[in-house]
Amino acid sequence: MSNKRDYYEVLGLSKGASEQEIKKAYRTLAKKYHPDMNKEPGAEEKFKEINEAYEVLSDPTKKANYDQYGFAGMDGAGGFGGFSNADFGDINDIFGSFFGSGFGGFGGSSRRSNTGPRRGQDRYMQMRISFMDAIFGKNETIKIDVDETCPDCMGTGAHSKEDIKSCSRCNGTGTVVTQQRTAFGVFQSQSVCPECGGTGKKIVRKCSRCNGKGYEHKRVEVDVKIPAGIQSGQQLRVSGKGERGSNGGSNGDLFIEILVGRHDYFTREGKNIYIDVPISSVDAALGCTIDAPTVYGDVELNIPAGTQNGTQFRLRGKGVKDIRGGDQGDQFVQVHVEIPKKLSREEKELYEKLRSVSRKNEKESVFEKFKKAFK
Ligand SMILES: [Zn+2]
Ligand SMILES: [Zn+2]
Repeated sequence: MSNKRDYYEVLGLSKGASEQEIKKAYRTLAKKYHPDMNKEPGAEEKFKEINEAYEVLSDPTKKANYDQYGFAGMDGAGGFGGFSNADFGDINDIFGSFFGSGFGGFGGSSRRSNTGPRRGQDRYMQMRISFMDAIFGKNETIKIDVDETCPDCMGTGAHSKEDIKSCSRCNGTGTVVTQQRTAFGVFQSQSVCPECGGTGKKIVRKCSRCNGKGYEHKRVEVDVKIPAGIQSGQQLRVSGKGERGSNGGSNGDLFIEILVGRHDYFTREGKNIYIDVPISSVDAALGCTIDAPTVYGDVELNIPAGTQNGTQFRLRGKGVKDIRGGDQGDQFVQVHVEIPKKLSREEKELYEKLRSVSRKNEKESVFEKFKKAFK
């Protein structure tokens, strides 16, 4: 533990950094060292270090402990596998889409020893939800196939602890050294032990429940809580529902990317909702009151006399709930003044009358004024 770097140092921050600074630093660094994007040696270690630091510093309780006691304040310091798997089957975080394909699990590294527990890979799926469900949130139950750790043997595959012996072929190392004599000399090469498959263990008596596999393949129902205000591309994480780990390692996580459908009338940008409404030229000129539709039901909106085409009105707080607990968004109503394409005889007469009255008052039409200025 003594060789661990200070968490603030890992994120390039000084003590007392704000929540936002921490988040920002984490995003930048996680992106930079993400194993999917950065193939340089050491990038993966760095990525894990960054995740561990963020896991602590983003959690107020853990952060307070760390601030006060340092690493000694951490339960099982160094044991963070990047993410907490404590809330099995619970959604406990939301990520933006900045990770692109998401976190490529780091269980597959060839540099890691085969004999220790390895966390499973993360899995990804997409879920389509309606425009309204994204605004109001929704609880959805999905069925997924998952390999869960066998509860009888806790993933070891053995009937009891005593039934796990060290592999005699590799002496528990998981690897065997083979020598090859050639004309140029003797070559040594290391390979995975064929007897134990690299686990370094030999099971004398298998667990009867899982027949030595260490896991059970199950079809499970997972309750997915889609929070109100979610946006297309954001991901929900379901802990422990990813690919199975090996050698008693925990499962990876399941990431669900949310895809939000369109609405016939409303559109959305972040927290704000937009709608176009038509009004007649007469209503625009004289003013009127309309029942503007919002996602929460109709809202009375006063259109003042002389409203121009394209004018936008703001209905405060009628937008989308902030997913992170900030201010609720607004709704913007844009009016489209419609010029009648057909007039009844009576309407036509009134329009003619209107024109002659305007002439009397204004002496010249708006177009004539424009033409004059044009010259
Ligand atoms: Zn072996
Ligand atoms: Zn078992």
